[in-house]
Amino acid sequence: MKKITIAIDGFSSCGKSTMAKDLAREIGYIYIDSGAMYRAVTLYSIENGIFRGNRIDTEKLKKHIKDIHISFRLNSATGCPETYLNGVNVENKIRTMEVSSRVSPIATLDFVREAMVAQQQEMGKAKGIVMDGRDIGTTVFPDAELKIFVTATPEIRAQRRHDELKAKGQEVGFDEILENVKQRDHIDQNREVSPLRKADDALLLDNSHLTIAQQKKWLAEQFERIVQNK
Ligand code: C5P
Repeated sequence: MKKITIAIDGFSSCGKSTMAKDLAREIGYIYIDSGAMYRAVTLYSIENGIFRGNRIDTEKLKKHIKDIHISFRLNSATGCPETYLNGVNVENKIRTMEVSSRVSPIATLDFVREAMVAQQQEMGKAKGIVMDGRDIGTTVFPDAELKIFVTATPEIRAQRRHDELKAKGQEVGFDEILENVKQRDHIDQNREVSPLRKADDALLLDNSHLTIAQQKKWLAEQFERIVQNK
């Protein structure tokens, strides 16, 4: 069967990665979490003195951007892909609140986006890929055969993120997470380069009141519909 490209975009913490990852595993496609790439650039910036307080030394980051190599490798024990920054596994480090609170300003920078988008397009050249993010259906793969735009209320998304962090042993207050979710939505929607928006041909999924199983079923149906009609 001919492989297609699947773009899953949407707001922060709305469960995009869970659905994208599950679908990719079931249909034997590659899964790429593009947010992890922006998070890895942010971690690199924190660890290499590119932040001056809340300010970003953009000139310094511009010089370093070619030294930032991001890759994904499958963890054979969990079956999940993990993020590597210059050969080092940073999967846990990129999920902290510190990175979450600094990533969206990094993702507004045009030269960062250019570098990430080029890598993402390279990864998807052969199709057979599910990629999630903010600009996948609009900028990275505008010709994707299946585009989904996911949303849920900020409170529900913050609660999910809270539960997820708690399960990993990170105790972060609900209010702090809600504030971070809202702030990232705002920056992502209002930046100049590739702002977060639904592609005209994307299917809208509000999963506020859907279980993971219901959402999974819905997505599998959309995939089947597209491949049957090809
Ligand atoms: O998906 P995740 O929440 O991990 O993404 C982290 C941040 O990276 C987002 O809040 C957004 O600012 C940025 N991002 C982006 N474009 C993408 C994916 C993520 O700007 N394609």
